[in-house]
Amino acid sequence: MRIKYYGTAAAEGWPALFCKCAVCEEARRRGGKNIRTRSQATIDDRLLVDYPPDTYLHVLHYGLKLEDYDSCIVTHAHEDHLYRDDVAVRAHGFASVVRPKPFTLYGADSVIDLLNGLPAWGKDPERVAWHEIMEYQTFEVEGYQVTPLLAAHGKHDHIKCYIFDIEKDGERLLYGNDTGIFPEPTWDWISGKQYDLVSLDCTMLARKEGTNHMGIEDVLEVQRRLIDMGAAKEHTVWVITHFSHNGGVLHEELEEIMRPHNFHVAYDGFEIATAGR
Ligand SMILES: [Zn+2]
Ligand SMILES: [Zn+2]
Ligand SMILES: [Zn+2]
Repeated sequence: MRIKYYGTAAAEGWPALFCKCAVCEEARRRGGKNIRTRSQATIDDRLLVDYPPDTYLHVLHYGLKLEDYDSCIVTHAHEDHLYRDDVAVRAHGFASVVRPKPFTLYGADSVIDLLNGLPAWGKDPERVAWHEIMEYQTFEVEGYQVTPLLAAHGKHDHIKCYIFDIEKDGERLLYGNDTGIFPEPTWDWISGKQYDLVSLDCTMLARKEGTNHMGIEDVLEVQRRLIDMGAAKEHTVWVITHFSHNGGVLHEELEEIMRPHNFHVAYDGFEIATAGR
């Protein structure tokens, strides 16, 4: 499997909207990998993960061919992961020539509630559809076996947020943005699995957190536990993503910190494949 990161920032982007803090100013100065948009990824150019407000920017400037996708799995209903109103513009009268199937989003109850709230003109079942998914219940999409696992996130608004376990042809990937250290039922589910690629939230960077997001220390704790339980081996590819300027570490410095721990630091446009066994 191959994962491509189109967006690697937390909700406010980096440099953050309106912000003049030192690391936002430095990101503006350095540019390149320090310019981060809101989180979105694709698996093998077939399966879309999240639909943030920067989706259009990813289409315009990052080469995302949205017109080739039928399916999107949504981690959670926060606005930096699902910008609902840009789903509606696939309706008749907006998009003229589209693939024959409706563009289908898969998400928890709060994602479905959000989509159900679309104005009537955007609810066009021939063009857009949505299905509720449940934690620890595997479903098939685009030839992948996907299992939503509960994330430690949404503690302020009490919505369900998911990490995704994605499996195909004996390869397994764990994708978690917006999570603290996993809840115990998720650890229980992971037990006995073995991951070829693990992609983790590192919103807080230099700050330790763990209950709603992770910082570097929390990420290393999760890595240790995955290795100790046999869920990760030498071939496992490690990635961190979803960064906030509040964490205060720019890309180049972060790479230096994470290299000894075998972690790749995602940036907008970063692509990596599983090692293959
Ligand atoms: Zn987020
Ligand atoms: Zn800032
Ligand atoms: Zn969130």
